Amino acid sequence: MARTVESPGRERPLASTIGWDARLATVAGRHAPKIEKAFGYRTVGDLLGHYPRRWVDKGSLSDLGDVEPDLHVTVIGRVVRSRQHPYSDRRRGGLAYRLEAVVATEDAQLMLTFFDKAQHTADWRLGQLRPGRSGLFSGKVGTFRGTLQLVNPQTQMFGGEGDEAAVAAEWEKLPALIPIYPATSTVQSWQLADAIELALDLVHEVPEVLPEEVRRTHDLLPARQALRWLHRPDSWSEKGAAEKRLRFDEAFVTQTVLAQRRQELRALEAEPRSGRPGGLLDRFDERLPFELTAGQQQVSRAVLDDLAAGHPMHRLLQGEVGSGKTVVALRAMLRVVDSGAQAALLAPTEVLAQQHHRSITAMLGDLATGGMLGGAEDGTRVALLTGSMGAAARREALLDVASGAAGVVIGTHALLEDKVRFAELGLVVVDEQHRFGVEQRAALAAKGGRTPPHVLVMTATPIPRTVAMTVFGDLETSTLSELPAGRAPIQTTVVALVDQPSWMERALVRVREEVERGHQVYIVCPRIGGDDNDGTQQPGDVDDAKPMAAVEEVAPELAEGALHGLRLEMLHGRLPPDRKDQVMRRFAAGEVDVLVSTTVIEVGVDVANATMMVILDADRFGVSQLHQLRGRVGRGGLPGLCLLVTNAPADTPARERLAAVAATTDGFELSRVDLEQRREGDVLGVSQSGRRSSLRLLHVLQHEDDIVEARAVATAVVAEDPALERHPQLAKQVRRLHDAEQADYLEKA
Ligand code: ADP
Ligand code: MG
Repeated sequence: MARTVESPGRERPLASTIGWDARLATVAGRHAPKIEKAFGYRTVGDLLGHYPRRWVDKGSLSDLGDVEPDLHVTVIGRVVRSRQHPYSDRRRGGLAYRLEAVVATEDAQLMLTFFDKAQHTADWRLGQLRPGRSGLFSGKVGTFRGTLQLVNPQTQMFGGEGDEAAVAAEWEKLPALIPIYPATSTVQSWQLADAIELALDLVHEVPEVLPEEVRRTHDLLPARQALRWLHRPDSWSEKGAAEKRLRFDEAFVTQTVLAQRRQELRALEAEPRSGRPGGLLDRFDERLPFELTAGQQQVSRAVLDDLAAGHPMHRLLQGEVGSGKTVVALRAMLRVVDSGAQAALLAPTEVLAQQHHRSITAMLGDLATGGMLGGAEDGTRVALLTGSMGAAARREALLDVASGAAGVVIGTHALLEDKVRFAELGLVVVDEQHRFGVEQRAALAAKGGRTPPHVLVMTATPIPRTVAMTVFGDLETSTLSELPAGRAPIQTTVVALVDQPSWMERALVRVREEVERGHQVYIVCPRIGGDDNDGTQQPGDVDDAKPMAAVEEVAPELAEGALHGLRLEMLHGRLPPDRKDQVMRRFAAGEVDVLVSTTVIEVGVDVANATMMVILDADRFGVSQLHQLRGRVGRGGLPGLCLLVTNAPADTPARERLAAVAATTDGFELSRVDLEQRREGDVLGVSQSGRRSSLRLLHVLQHEDDIVEARAVATAVVAEDPALERHPQLAKQVRRLHDAEQADYLEKA
């Protein structure tokens, strides 16, 4: 690309070829420090990994399509007119100069405005922006009197000061597809383009991570050619072929890491836990008041087989809220207790841990009163351990855990503390994967003693197959896809207050009716009170000025107003733990009609008589979160009703999300809607940002074929060469990914 305004003045190397690991300054010259600062690149190889964000077809010049206010854009256009306006600058005194230029692309025009103080710079600029000349313009889009404009954009004109013919000649030199690089306010796209172009010319050896025969059988470009075609394609098909190759690399490296991890797990020994006839599991099954669904039986069998094998189980169990995961997990826990070991259930919140403790104790009946007067002979004990327990209760629980008297231990991350010692931990069940990182799993696994415990992870947020393969690729996955019979449908309705404000009153009348029929109701708010914001805000939200509904404000207002006379209670994360537990108990016992709460009730809370949920400012929640929330109603065979109350105007993304939730109860479909609206990084989760930053071209939702193929290839490579001794470049990339994930881990620890 031609350079006129700026000339990087790089140190031209003497040699005609440089290495992949050569210093960035070799090709970026004096721009190297700011490139390193902006992107962290140190070597030429790092720089070549800076892929174009898009390519502009020189033939079409249409590049204004996605220009919107406040975006930082780089556009290519031809100046159609330009005018200098001298004006008197009152603040400074004297004349200043405003230059207005109109730049045209094929389908739109954009105004550029430059302000200059000195006449000679203003005149120089007027020459630069002569009608007929073309250039790249980069800046933040603003509006002035309703017209989109760039003020003082960074400018890179094509061609020098020459005549039309010279401009045309410079224009000729531009590639057919001009790469536009992700830039910042300090590093311009064309500065990167210049350095990358030089690097492409000088670097002759590009590391190959793919084995040659894989490359051939999958019809992929060699690495060096792929890089050249990505940065400097002559056609869209070259660019496509380049992306295909480099995307495959990303999938391949990620899958190699996971294949190694699976291999390592398989190499570990674990104590087989095969139970015994007539034990707790058998007696539990005898008294189970329902038949397991076919899915539950199948998954249970797989889990019990895993437990009986000599290697640690690492299984992910996914299934909708209410699909009966807990029963499957409990059967596994009993099998382990029958084998003389303990099982721990790790819950994401205090409320949920208490809830599990209550329901599991209830399901076990006298089987859970081992060692107590009147308990079943050789039953076990269920211990609860949370961060907020009183000292005495805590000491007792710790003792039961350490002595092994408690076969089943339920808790929050308090279970991860050093002080918690198990007599013999055989199984860890993690409820709701999303809130637990890999490192917490590891911390619990480390409590296993001689051999690592088996691990079962449960999640109610269905995870699309490719995401599971990328993020949880070291886990085997099972899915419960049917709900137990007798589950009543939930009807979901969007209550749009902008369309009809009086609908709020109608909704509250409906709450009262529901209570009069003897049922209970949840009212969910995004905030607790005061100035807090619990981070539920979604991209594309509107109307930030209006405060969101808060539990501490809504509850008293309703108690004195529309819901006067009903038994109403508040529940939120800032209440003391025993207060929370008390409120939940009373709600479960039917002593509370209306529970006004935050999302603390999101997961797992199970009160069969609750049939209605009103979610205030529902647009503040994500799709999956709303789906989880409404899963709290309609659990007792009674039809459920969920009202999504919103102030969001029609035709906004927020309203679309709510409409999607109202339209289907298929969790997998909603999960897809949800993931598609998020950035890729969020899809992979916070604890995966090392993996995330290594994925530039691969989109886990879109490129299923690549992921599936790469997984097969990676598994084969690792099986033959576990330490990757014969694949040094691959080993290097794998190490990089490990290091990145390790760095994340340390940062959070
Ligand atoms: P999840 O943990 O997947 O949300 P649970 O295991 O808590 O689901 O089950 C939800 C409710 O359904 C519980 O009350 C449970 O007792 C009940 N349940 C589980 N499996 C069955 C079944 N096969 N038939 C009838 N009810 C079931
Ligand atoms: Mg559950």
